[in-house]
Amino acid sequence: VALTGCGRGDTGSSSADPSEGAAAEGFAADATIGVALPDRTSENWVLAGDLFTNGLDEAGFDGNVQYAGSSNSVGDQQQQIQTMIDGGAEVIVIGAADTNQLATQLQAADAAGITVIAYDRLIQNSELVDYYVAFDNFHVGELQAESLLQGLEERYGDQEAWNIELFSGSPDDSNSAVFFDGAMSVLQPRIDDGTLTVVSGQTTVQQTSTEDWAAENAQNRMDTILQSSYQGQELHGVLSPNDNLARAILTSVQNDGREVPVVTGQDSEVESVRAIVAGTQYSTIYKDTRALVAATIEMVQALQAGEEPETTATSDNGAIEVPSNLLEPVIVTQANAAEAYADNPDLAPLTEG
Ligand code: BGC
Repeated sequence: VALTGCGRGDTGSSSADPSEGAAAEGFAADATIGVALPDRTSENWVLAGDLFTNGLDEAGFDGNVQYAGSSNSVGDQQQQIQTMIDGGAEVIVIGAADTNQLATQLQAADAAGITVIAYDRLIQNSELVDYYVAFDNFHVGELQAESLLQGLEERYGDQEAWNIELFSGSPDDSNSAVFFDGAMSVLQPRIDDGTLTVVSGQTTVQQTSTEDWAAENAQNRMDTILQSSYQGQELHGVLSPNDNLARAILTSVQNDGREVPVVTGQDSEVESVRAIVAGTQYSTIYKDTRALVAATIEMVQALQAGEEPETTATSDNGAIEVPSNLLEPVIVTQANAAEAYADNPDLAPLTEG
């Protein structure tokens, strides 16, 4: 919008209110919207890709959804984002492959006047992240830990103390520490009072991390811990940060000929929902990807219309407080699976006896 020296009292036909600034001008209703997603390390990413492709199309935008590959995910994603910038995207939604390695791309996006929305994972240490849309990740960790304690009480309530192990996610994903911190805010007091013993002694986010969120890394670590710390000892529970790793941990324990411990998860993946109904995995978290993608597209629509998107919170990324829309995660066990997934046509059938 060209504002040729007109003041507030000017009766000229220029439309934009200059007090609202450039961000309030909006952009074309059929603008290109880039969506850069990480490697498909869990089902939620697979679902998100299709939902963005269809949802942006239905909203009238020209959506461009890209995934980083598994072998060079950081380099792939950097390249894909640069291509979106060069291609004239108005907004780029980023589910970061590595939440610390996008500085160059964010600078280029900023220089081109592009709005950046961090999706699910908060991009760290940059002032150039405009918005963040995610589930409340700290609360995810709290819910996981509470369900671990609940499961231990249900299954081993006759004992006074329980042996557990802790797993966290990939160090290049800023969510990993947030999930872990949320969980430890609940578990640490029970470790301190002797209710819980982490027999391996590995209790920091570094010691418990799972590189690349890869199932084989979690399975290997569980194998090693069982060999080195659990000869003649029972394992009662495992904090797992997501479903893919939960199933790997369960495989390790079962290969060792043990009774399945109480294992947590996240994502409501099909195989894990089956395992919860069957009683092998204890819990998962429901973060409805449909709701998260819809919230993101609503944000894009607000920007398109020249409005300020709705936000519910701010999130500290180490540089600024990023305006955020944080959705509520739901804990799911065998007891509430049917109710929790009732409106989800992919998951509801799995809970029917
Ligand atoms: C997501 C989790 C997912 C993990 C691995 C995290 O950033 O929040 O839902 O399990 O990445 O893909």
